[in-house]
Amino acid sequence: MAENFRLYKPIRRAELRDAICRALGASEQQRAIPSTTQGPLVDAGEPGEFLNILVAEDNAVNQRLVARLLEKRGHYVTLAFSGREALQAIEKGNFDLVLMDIQMPEMDGFEATAVICENEKVTGTHLPVVALTAHAMKGDEDRRRAAGMDGYLTKPIRPQELDELLKKYVLRREERIPSAGD
Ligand code: MN
Repeated sequence: MAENFRLYKPIRRAELRDAICRALGASEQQRAIPSTTQGPLVDAGEPGEFLNILVAEDNAVNQRLVARLLEKRGHYVTLAFSGREALQAIEKGNFDLVLMDIQMPEMDGFEATAVICENEKVTGTHLPVVALTAHAMKGDEDRRRAAGMDGYLTKPIRPQELDELLKKYVLRREERIPSAGD
């Protein structure tokens, strides 16, 4: 019954999860997860301490550094080299958080985040986007807010700051509190 596996864009998390559950042959009961869930597609048991994180960063060295920090903490990392790649990844994946470099080729972090926010008006979901900035510039804060970003980390990333940030999003996901867009 191929009919059951058809998905229409934009794909909502719940629909995607349902389709995957159907494909995996999960029972109705197992699928009866509230549609507001921001959790992983395939529930591994315990509510997620581990986040599915997209890292959009055009600098390969920085990319590796961030990925290593995250993976050491048990999180799942997907990499993108530009804003455009980040959008493509988001379309296909199910992320809890995006770490978005501001300066990238093709499409920068501000532009990509603005597109994500536009799409969310349709889907009604919220994917937190945290900016990665080389240095905190005056006026950047306003631009980040305008673009719909949830926060920022200054590069080079200090492990302690990263831990603080991740804690916030792990809690947020566990409590299933929709972001107030702080
Ligand atoms: Mn960059």
